[in-house]
Amino acid sequence: MATLPRMTTTAPIGAHLIGGDWSTDAPGGTAVSDNPARPDEPVGEYPLGDAGTAAQAVGAAVEAQAAWRAAGFGFRSRILERAAVLFDERADELALVCTLEEGKTLAESRGEAVLSAETCRYQAGLAKTSTERIFPTGNPGETIRTVRAPLGVVGIITPWNFPILIPVWKIAPALVAGNPVIWKPASNTPLTAVAIAGVFADAGLPAGVLNLVLGPGSVGGALVADERVDGVSFTGSVGVGRGIRDVVTARNGRVQLELGGHNPCIVFPDADLDMAVTAVVGGAMGATGQKCTATRRIIAVGDVHDELVDRLAVAVTALKVGDGQDPATAIGPLVSAGARAEVVEAIDQARAEGAVTVAVTEEVPDGPCYQAPTLFVGGTDLTITREEVFGPVSTVLHVDTEDEAFALANDTEFGLSASVFTNDMWTIDRAVHELRAGLIKVNGPTTGSEIHAPFGGEKNSSGHSAREQGDTAQEFFTRTRTAYIKPGRLP
Ligand code: NDP
Repeated sequence: MATLPRMTTTAPIGAHLIGGDWSTDAPGGTAVSDNPARPDEPVGEYPLGDAGTAAQAVGAAVEAQAAWRAAGFGFRSRILERAAVLFDERADELALVCTLEEGKTLAESRGEAVLSAETCRYQAGLAKTSTERIFPTGNPGETIRTVRAPLGVVGIITPWNFPILIPVWKIAPALVAGNPVIWKPASNTPLTAVAIAGVFADAGLPAGVLNLVLGPGSVGGALVADERVDGVSFTGSVGVGRGIRDVVTARNGRVQLELGGHNPCIVFPDADLDMAVTAVVGGAMGATGQKCTATRRIIAVGDVHDELVDRLAVAVTALKVGDGQDPATAIGPLVSAGARAEVVEAIDQARAEGAVTVAVTEEVPDGPCYQAPTLFVGGTDLTITREEVFGPVSTVLHVDTEDEAFALANDTEFGLSASVFTNDMWTIDRAVHELRAGLIKVNGPTTGSEIHAPFGGEKNSSGHSAREQGDTAQEFFTRTRTAYIKPGRLP
């Protein structure tokens, strides 16, 4: 069954990690993790936990909490630094399991492992910089000082589309700030999660500080509802995210959401079309369009439209779709046959609504998860230009003026990322200030971010959540306390 090579980690192939012990308890039965590129070669089996497993993991985290907080930032940073070394050393192994389960190319998967190492290193270093502030007071001898205390017991729920990096974006800052963690990963990528938990365990994390619970969405539901969990950081769909927000905030817990996107890329007539075409195709189709920051709408301004469409069509048609393990592959399969069915339905609906197909990738292997990247030209009446379709599909929209372009770009319930292609300084300045997105790129794709800069969206992409990554990551994972300190004796 398992096509996985033996991992360097001490973790078994499929198991929960609770209170420092690997456990194959399976109150929900066992499940098989599939390889979307090779459905007849499943990746491996894993146990399904239930609400009781989640409760056990929360109990382990509660037990570890005081000692982890008291251990101090130096001890915590050193563990993250060791985890960084292991992420680098195991990058190829992690990439393989990620590609086998998720389908993306080995290069894309390896990039996640390497950026995970960088995230751990960065967050470990950041812990050594002061976040305290001192304020003046009118009372002689008194000091007002803010300190950052850990948030508490933290639940982390992650999707399958960046199964290495998104968890590490959350786990690394949570741990270094002194919080014990319970992590429920996506069911499409459980064995990648085990390998990541193995990295942290092998880096020397004390028992109970990071707990991994495998199982269906209901396990995440149990975690979210547990009164002992002080905060939940979630990345995934809008519907699930809203449900989590309602449950956690109803009990005065803290919630951080990274949800969907419908990201525009505006191409102005003065754009460098070589740059724009490369960025649009990469942004729309890279990772098989399964990025929250993927380019969903391409807004062509004025007479750039026809040449842009022609050049995009050539590039999309030539994309190489295949098994992510083949170094020649640019676009892997979708994560599952179910995910493909949703994309096919959206494409059929777009055609029925009048979208014009300008490009479909020609060579696509047989298999239930392979989907030809598809480019449409159409209008704003198409459902596909409003609702997120999580696959390699994008639509070119044509407007005449800059005002129309900005209005159309912002005409969405989402606000995750946006990009513009132009060299006009006024237009660039306008884009930075007027595009309602948390991530704005100028002459770059809507996708991609650096781990040391804040990441997150506006509107339905993130609500009012604190930003992830960078030094802003600590805002969610810590509580600010203001202390008024004065001498205990009168002068
Ligand atoms: P889901 O919301 O279905 O799942 C995300 C995680 O939540 C999974 O671990 C899932 O478990 C779990 N879950 C499911 N139901 C519940 C529940 N009731 N309570 C608690 N946890 C639950 O999203 P997908 O995994 O399908 O991810 C795709 C979506 O995520 C897209 O819409 C995409 O836009 C968004 N996304 C956003 C990103 C961002 O940064 N803004 C980044 C990446 C993705 P299980 O897998 O077992 O169902």
